[in-house]
Amino acid sequence: MPLTDPTLSATKQIALVAHDNKKKDLLEWVRFNRLTLLKHDLMATGTTGRLIEDELDIEIKRFMSGPLGGDQQIGAAIAEGKIDIMIFFWDPLQAQPHDPDVKALLRIAVVWNLPVACDRSTADFLISSPLLDEPYERQQPTHEGYLSRATEVD
Ligand code: PGA
Repeated sequence: MPLTDPTLSATKQIALVAHDNKKKDLLEWVRFNRLTLLKHDLMATGTTGRLIEDELDIEIKRFMSGPLGGDQQIGAAIAEGKIDIMIFFWDPLQAQPHDPDVKALLRIAVVWNLPVACDRSTADFLISSPLLDEPYERQQPTHEGYLSRATEVD
């Protein structure tokens, strides 16, 4: 049995994160895709979120800043089925103080079969997908082995 409802509605829950050297890139992408993004529910880590709010002139859900726990909060929301898509422009050329959190976030996204874009061209493909604006039945891993093991421990 799936842990969360695998059906994504036409309005998607989109999480956006950008490392400092990638924020300009993400904001340009957000500006270009403004009308499409406004049809969905947006959320972001602290600083990225504030910049997106200024850019789009709307309020969005903001987690804590990434290095202060925001990446972990987004990872938890993914595990709880509260995020449908993640746009994560991480910086491949600079070590981050929260590198373990970055790795964990990318990992949990794959664990839950989440569509993720880590660069602009992938983000372009994702946002122009016909699946973005319609309901989508996501194949959801059950991870049954892990669940039964957890039950055994209890
Ligand atoms: P920030 O966090 O949006 O608060 O800058 C991004 C990150 O480094 O994960």
